[in-house]
Amino acid sequence: MASENAVDRAPLARAAKAARRGPAPTGAVRAPDEPSAPADAAAMRDALLAWHASNGRSLPGRDDRDPWHVLVVEVMSQQTQIDRSLAAAATFCTAFPTPSALAVATPAAVLRAWAGLGYNRRALALRAAAQAITERHGGRVPGDLDSLVELPGVGPYTARAVAARAFGATVMPVDVNVRRVLGRVLDDPAPGRVQALGDLLARSADGRPGTVADALMDLAAGICRARDPGCSACPVSAWCRWRTSRTAGAGHHARGSSPTGAVARPASRTASGTASGTASRARARHGAGPAGALPFPRTRRWLRGQLLRELRDAPPGAWSDVEGPRGTHDPAAVRETIATLAREGFVELDESGRARLAEA
Ligand code: SF4
Repeated sequence: MASENAVDRAPLARAAKAARRGPAPTGAVRAPDEPSAPADAAAMRDALLAWHASNGRSLPGRDDRDPWHVLVVEVMSQQTQIDRSLAAAATFCTAFPTPSALAVATPAAVLRAWAGLGYNRRALALRAAAQAITERHGGRVPGDLDSLVELPGVGPYTARAVAARAFGATVMPVDVNVRRVLGRVLDDPAPGRVQALGDLLARSADGRPGTVADALMDLAAGICRARDPGCSACPVSAWCRWRTSRTAGAGHHARGSSPTGAVARPASRTASGTASGTASRARARHGAGPAGALPFPRTRRWLRGQLLRELRDAPPGAWSDVEGPRGTHDPAAVRETIATLAREGFVELDESGRARLAEA
């Protein structure tokens, strides 16, 4: 939406100037503290957006706010880097321009369009979501969190991301990277407090919560890194309690520890989903290597991917003989995996055990 990306330059320039002055003396600037500090959150948001206007990553398609396109990108980027997801989503949405178009596609067609992304369950989950959108919502992606989170393959994080980016909902998608930034600002990685601050920033975002989310993610990727954060270049350092405590030499951080580990390794389920899911998103979004790229032919995941690749490369509709070992897997393991893929709806088998991608 153009309105979401429009930037009021004057207040942003003032905020950027304030941010460049660096952190205020301890106590002079109160760090945002849950929803009780909307003024601080607004100032921090302005500094963040000013920085993002000049320093944010330029990713083709990122400003597309079409709800279907946003949903496709968000599902893809659950375990794929955001730049790759944006490019793949553009191609995918050309093949399936609406939820209704995807809803009637065969699993085989969807899996072929998903080639190269890995984690193929997401492809079938997205197809199931498209069917639910068609049946329950007249073919239009719903904008409310409750409806979004009921879609197959859409967890709380993805629901928030779609609601904020496509509909301007004042909620913040908090993945492990955003959680690291906000956890440091608060000097407290507690999920509830981090989410509250994220939502506060979203509420103060003047219709641009998606852009604020992008800015936080870019800040996490480029400056507030898990290790060695670049605090001297950080636009929100003035509000960051972690930096303040380090600068003042106070507290446990001055003794050499860092909140990084606590933030990056949540021990329990978070607002973004499971810890492992959150970590996968972190790896995917910020280039630590696609989580699906397991190079070891001894893993069952590799075998599933290998078999699906073979069937995807076969002529559409043709049956393939899948007998024989693959990697370190013997023929029995291959048969068992093919049977599992059939039960899960990825492939179909004929009477002689030959396989092809599911056509229905
Ligand atoms: S000041 Fe440092 S620790 Fe705080 S948000 Fe910025 S980069 Fe992260």
